[in-house]
Order: sequence, then structure tokens, then C-alpha cells
Amino acid sequence: MTDTFELATLGVRAGQRRTGFQEHSEALFLTSSYVFENAAQAAAGFAGGGDGYVYSRYTNPTVTMMQERLAALEGAQACVATASGMSAILATAMVLLKAGDHVVSSNAIFGATIQLFSTLLSKFGIETTFVPLTRIEQWQRAVRPNTRLFFLESPSNPLGEVADIAAIAAVAKQAGATLAVDNCLCTPVLQRPLALGADLVIHSATKYLDGQGRVLGGAVAGAKGAVMDSLVGFLRTAGPSISPFNAWVILKGMETLEIRMLAQSERALAVAAWLERHPQVARVYYPGLPSHPQRALAQRQQRAGGAIVSFDVKGGKEAAWKVIDATKLISITGNLGDVKTTITHPATTTHGRLTPEARAAAGIGDGLIRLAVGLEAVEDLKADLKRGLG
Ligand SMILES: *Cc1c(COP(=O)(O)O)cnc(C)c1O
Repeated sequence: MTDTFELATLGVRAGQRRTGFQEHSEALFLTSSYVFENAAQAAAGFAGGGDGYVYSRYTNPTVTMMQERLAALEGAQACVATASGMSAILATAMVLLKAGDHVVSSNAIFGATIQLFSTLLSKFGIETTFVPLTRIEQWQRAVRPNTRLFFLESPSNPLGEVADIAAIAAVAKQAGATLAVDNCLCTPVLQRPLALGADLVIHSATKYLDGQGRVLGGAVAGAKGAVMDSLVGFLRTAGPSISPFNAWVILKGMETLEIRMLAQSERALAVAAWLERHPQVARVYYPGLPSHPQRALAQRQQRAGGAIVSFDVKGGKEAAWKVIDATKLISITGNLGDVKTTITHPATTTHGRLTPEARAAAGIGDGLIRLAVGLEAVEDLKADLKRGLG
């Protein structure tokens, strides 16, 4: 199926398996275990020899459908779903790394991922060097003989910096390290990291794959083989498996993924272009704008700019809070990936625990606002933002 159909078709159709009832919509299997014909079949199932289902911590038919649909979209041979995006990253680290190993990671990644690498994994003797996303020579220089994993997100959140994934993949390959790309912000609709040379793609399915802010979920996709098999083994043993209900919601979410990502990107571009012309706005960060410093790379690597638009308002924190507090339509929340537009002040929320110096080094100014653009009409979003921009 993967070879013959376009992305839109795969999102709607890939991975579906019908039961004997011939249901048209994908079935939700709310069951924790499965029954066997006889003792011998049960023994084979537990030994991992049978192809039947055993227990939903290992896997479940609804989860299988979700995994196969996401694998098809990413152009991956295999996919393993997890309870959340963070558990997908944890699972990847647990199967690839051991005490004494070293990670090179972008410093512009999700806050909890930074915490995972710098506080949790370091307890187990795994060290991480954080480097600027766009500085290839620093990735190269950070490599040590024990480097096993390269990790990045592109574009970065909230500043929309774009990594040259193919170039970083080449450095990883030379270092003998696995490159894992968290593709949460683009989804396979806008960017397919495996085709650019990444080894693994990681998702927080909580965001755009669900798309309507309902459930938590995560996934890792990659080539069939030892790493993907070890991920299945990790879930079976350690247990951060996805709920079949959540997998079903995400499975159905993927049916509208392409149309949502393109429509949300289109709206984001319109809002970004409007903000860029506003006299109260000092700077707009959006990979889809002609003014973006990495315009050519973004256009080569991504099908559209995505739905995250950040901007600096003149007047610092006070001015930024005024814009946020004047909104009536847009939701004040840190979440993203929803069809409902959200607004947040990174300096006092997502990046609030950093010291002012670390924040400044990360480029998170007091006047910075992040929008995660949804599906409302552009004119209504502009009117909502205009109020506080004065
Ligand atoms: C939200 C997010 C995560 C974590 O996902 P959860 O599903 O909340 O655990 C990881 N990476 C990125 C880029 C995210 O936005």
C-alpha cells in the first residue's frame, strides 16, 4: 500500500483491518487480553512464537492499525506506539543507550526532553552534550568515541529554526550514531525525516496526529530490525504502552492529518505575514515567511511552514501579556497541535524555569509570544490579536 498511494490516501486507508463483522470504520478493541484455542496455542503466544494477540501491554489490534498507518505516512517499515511522546523518547533512549554512552542533542528541544537527558539519563551514567540546532560544526565537534545518539527537532519551538537534517544525518552516520528526529511539529505531511537520512522518527501523537487535543500518545518509527524489535520488547517489559482508546482516536485523527496540516500552515502563514507588517511587532519567527533566515532550506525540506508562529512585540513582558490577556477567542494554554488556536508567553511559562541568562541565550525574549494556529478563520484570529496590539 505504501508504494502505490499518495499521502492523503494512506492517512485515510493505511493499516485498516476489518473483523468478520465488516465494519466500515476502524474498530476499537477495548480488551486487555485475548483467549487461546488450547494450552499449546497459549504457550506459543507467550513464547512470542504465535502471530496472535496475547495481552494489550504487548500490543492490541487497534494499536496495530495506528502503528501501520503512521509507518505508512512516515515511509517507515515499522512503528511502535507508546503512551505519550515522552515515553517514546524514553523508550528510544532505553533501547539505544547504556551506562557510559554519550548523546549529542539540539539545545532547542521540548523542555521535558531536555530534563530527561540532563537529569534522568545522567543518573544512569549517560551524558548529553547540547549544541545549537543550526551549527553543523558544533555537532561534529561534540562527537566522542562513545556517542550513540543524535537527537533533534526541526523546526525548533518556539523560534522556528530549521535543522539541515540531511547534513546532520551525515555527521551522525560518520560518528556511528543513530539520528532520531522528533517530527512532532511537522508531521509526515510536511516533512519526512527518514527520507532525509534520519534513522528514527519520534512523535508526540498528542499534538497534530490526534489534532483535536483529546488524548496522549506517542510513537517511534524506523526500519524493521533490532532497534524496533527492542522497542517492542521494552514496552512489553517496562509497560509505557498506549491505551487502545487513545490509539483509536489518533488513528482516526490521521484521516484528516494532511488536510489539517496544510490548512493550519496556510492560516499560520497569513497570520505571520500580517504580524510582520504590524508596527507593534518587532520580529516574526516563521519558517514559511520569505524573511526567514533559512528560507531556502525550509522550502527544500518542508512542504509548508507548519502551524507555529512566534513574534516579539515591542514593550517586553508587559506588552506581551497585554496581547495575550486581550484575546477572547484564542485559548491561553501551552498546548499545541489542536484545531483551536492557542497563545502562550514562553518566558514565563514553558521557559519560565530557566535563568534570565539561559533564556536570553536561547533567544526567548520577554516580548516573545507563541501562537499555535488552528483552523479558525484568519480574519477572526487577526481581530483577536489586534485588540491587544493597540
Ligand atoms: C509535546 C511534545 C513532546 C512530549 O509529548 P507528550 O505526548 O506530551 O509526552 C515531545 N516533543 C515535542 C516536540 C512536543 O511538542
